[in-house]
Amino acid sequence: MIEAKDIKRTFLMGKVEVQALKGVSLNIEKGEFIAIVGPSGSGKTTMLNQLGILDTPTSGEIIIDSTNISELTDREKIRFRLNNLGYVFQDYALIPTLTGLENVYLPLMMQGHPQKELEEKATNILEAVSLADRMHHLPSEMSGGQQQRVSIARALVHEPKILFADEPCANLDSTASRQVLELFSNFNKKNQQTIVMVTHEEWHLDYVDRVITLKDGLLAD
Ligand code: ATP
Repeated sequence: MIEAKDIKRTFLMGKVEVQALKGVSLNIEKGEFIAIVGPSGSGKTTMLNQLGILDTPTSGEIIIDSTNISELTDREKIRFRLNNLGYVFQDYALIPTLTGLENVYLPLMMQGHPQKELEEKATNILEAVSLADRMHHLPSEMSGGQQQRVSIARALVHEPKILFADEPCANLDSTASRQVLELFSNFNKKNQQTIVMVTHEEWHLDYVDRVITLKDGLLAD
């Protein structure tokens, strides 16, 4: 489903080159729940951003379901992301002036679905993350765990092929973290949802099918 071939990513810091990824190749199959782990600065977020088409590699190729991403125009990449991928970030990235429901139906709105369908689908997914009673509240009226569950609902409402999550539990206590991981695990098992998650917590690995370890910009043995 995802094939990464010899991915390199170099950043320029003034005149200094930082080689965040030095040639990473990997395959992820449909339905896998993957954790990317490694020490701070090993390239986890940079790799997730390449796989999730949020950044462009300096060299190498990402192929998702037979689409070679390097052959897409910027406009086609935006469309590809909108139709195929979902994202969860550690700071939730909700729009503060919109209610939970409105935040969740944004991806569907951008795809041009009618209002009735937006509300129906967003309500269903908010029920699935046990937030039906909070859907008309603003993010500022919710706990961190509730906000993260809204962001998971938003990431999944358009039924993306792949869900990318960058340290989704970084700002949550252990109870809220467990709820998030159990949600991921349920979507993964019930819907064959492919999930790629960056984490640095050992106990999170109990929930995943496979661990990919990075070290200094390369796959660790
Ligand atoms: P952490 O666990 O601390 O979040 P990480 O494993 O996710 O770290 P990355 O954020 O991918 O690591 O960073 C890998 C390397 O690339 C680091 O040396 C970092 O400083 C560098 N880097 C990442 N993004 C940029 C950028 N936009 N500009 C310059 N250097 C960057």
